[in-house]
Amino acid sequence: MRLALLVTMIVAILAGVAGTSAPRAQVTADSAFVIHAATMLDGRGGSTRNAYVVVRGGRIERVATSPVSVPDARVIELGSATLLPGIIDAHVHPGWYVDRNGKRNSQDSGDSPVQAVLARAGNLYATLMAGVTTIQSVGGGGLQDIDLRDAVARGWIPGPRILTSITQIGRAHMSMSADSLRISVRELKAHGADIIKLIASSESALLSEASFSDEQLSAICGEAKAQGMRSLVHAISAQSVRAATLAGCTQIEHGRFATDAELRLMAERGTIFDPQVCLVFQNYIDNAGAYNFTDSSLADYKARMAAASEAFGRAIRTPGLKIVFGTDAVALAHGRNAEELVCRVKSGQSPMEAIVSATSAGAAVLGLGDKIGTIAAGYDADLIAVDGDPSRDIAAMRRVVFVMRSGRQYR
Ligand SMILES: [Zn+2]
Repeated sequence: MRLALLVTMIVAILAGVAGTSAPRAQVTADSAFVIHAATMLDGRGGSTRNAYVVVRGGRIERVATSPVSVPDARVIELGSATLLPGIIDAHVHPGWYVDRNGKRNSQDSGDSPVQAVLARAGNLYATLMAGVTTIQSVGGGGLQDIDLRDAVARGWIPGPRILTSITQIGRAHMSMSADSLRISVRELKAHGADIIKLIASSESALLSEASFSDEQLSAICGEAKAQGMRSLVHAISAQSVRAATLAGCTQIEHGRFATDAELRLMAERGTIFDPQVCLVFQNYIDNAGAYNFTDSSLADYKARMAAASEAFGRAIRTPGLKIVFGTDAVALAHGRNAEELVCRVKSGQSPMEAIVSATSAGAAVLGLGDKIGTIAAGYDADLIAVDGDPSRDIAAMRRVVFVMRSGRQYR
């Protein structure tokens, strides 16, 4: 209780100092707003001039193109800004932060539990203020993720809605039997995990065997499915991408060395692809000191960024391949999520496709397609506005001027 109170107080102080406006009062069932913007992108590829969005009790009540009068509503005038659904980032590590020694946190950080929680709450705050209203936390958060997820949901701290895998099924599970792996999946579900994350090939095993056998992969992804959960697979090599796809896993993360054959196979099987183009690599390059990277590892990250951009270009040209937006934001990248959208467009995706992948298409992948990611009546009021029109110039996504999540205004 004391810890939660302290976190809430400090985050509130941070919000007051850093933001143009502190978090608003708790939204009640009948809190109403009329939000007007010169342009609205609905998240499904549609663009409307002069939109009026009526929000009540955390939900979008209606969308109009001429002025509306709602007697009890507060009017939010966004002028020439563009209104769009909050961004959904399918791959984030809010548990990664810079510790008291200025290094990426680890077992040796020596941070107190309070420091660790505050750092994570700070990451969530930065992410929300950058216009990201939903994230999937896919490893590194541990059971703290559950408390953070619930604290955000209760409105105790500002942050994006969180879906979490709690941990990653990886090296420590490599020697386990198929049955034991199934039990591990069920245990994660019992602890409150929303999704399952597993490592099918590590960086050091780029071109070698996938880390798990086909039987193990089928056990993990099959059990996840049986439990009503999605499975997200860290797979770098072509072979691991293929194995995870054939094992029926839901989504492939990274996949830099997937050839056209694997991309076509994924499209055929309905396997979702979550590639990263730049943010995670550039962040390592920009913050080499915090990560103890050497000159040779920096050269490697530059090479990885080039390979990732090339793979992304092939992925968007693969017919029927579903591509979701996930940044792999780690320590010092939280709040810079929009950079990945800018890079995706530089790598050949149209701005509107990039926006749709991060809104309605992302919501559908998360199983929340009827709740978030679209501006339409009945959807949660997860709304952001940016200075400029990102469907013409994606760099406008860097200039977030308004953030509302579940009908509560944070920026
Ligand atoms: Zn990751």
